[in-house]
Amino acid sequence: MLVVNNVTKKYGKNVACKDVSFTLEPGSLTVLLGPNGAGKSTIIKSIIGFLKYDGEITVDGFPNKTSEARKIMGYIPELPSLYPTLTVIEHMEFIARAYKMTNYKDRIEMLLDRFELSDKKKKFDDELSKGMQQKLNLCVGLLPDPDIILMDEPLLGLDPHAIKELKNYIEEMRQAGKTMLISTHIIDSVDMLWDRTVIMQNGQVCANVSRSEIEGAGKTLEDQFFLVTEGISPSSVKAPVEVASSSDEGSSEAKGEK
Ligand code: ADP
Repeated sequence: MLVVNNVTKKYGKNVACKDVSFTLEPGSLTVLLGPNGAGKSTIIKSIIGFLKYDGEITVDGFPNKTSEARKIMGYIPELPSLYPTLTVIEHMEFIARAYKMTNYKDRIEMLLDRFELSDKKKKFDDELSKGMQQKLNLCVGLLPDPDIILMDEPLLGLDPHAIKELKNYIEEMRQAGKTMLISTHIIDSVDMLWDRTVIMQNGQVCANVSRSEIEGAGKTLEDQFFLVTEGISPSSVKAPVEVASSSDEGSSEAKGEK
């Protein structure tokens, strides 16, 4: 189980996350929703151990920056973080060795095949298109097959085939009992199976609800999102006047847009 407890992260005077708490239950898929600047990347980077913050994050009882916790977690960043001097296949082999994986060749072949990079094995980072770099970023993140995987806007920049493949892959990981946290600001992209949603705005969690709670109340994820981020109830979505009058609170500054 991954527990985020009262995490606050400030960049100078800018509070990127404030008292953020939530739990990822083993084997669950949690969607981290929020507009741009809501604090999603900041909390994910805090969990994976890239940032200093106030608060506590534990993974199966281990503090998140310990080697025990790091071994269990994997991270797919929003922007590819690749090495210019390595080819596609060298990236994969480098990660396999870094994680001390054995018998990794078939897994590398499988991932490169699924994300249509098999014919790009000898290409260097700067010879790949942005979408291909994004796919390599995914393959590198998925290779070690961790129990808990954090994905920051993983569908951005992917072509339709890769989006379909990643959604299928996410479903396979779900069936294999992986714990996943997937951030997005595009609600329409969340058509895969998910168990819980944590909605952030202005650095704070403004909703943490299960799928069954949302569906049991006769709502969609979109209804829930606009209800908590803009105070718009499902029935008032159809009323332009009410939507417009609530936009003061939803100014770009209030929403924390970058
Ligand atoms: P999201 O991922 O939801 O778009 P972020 O976590 O990237 O949001 O950003 C949350 C807030 O923190 C924003 O106000 C953003 O401008 C700020 N922020 C993020 N990274 C940095 C940074 N490296 N330095 C200063 N401010 C940052």
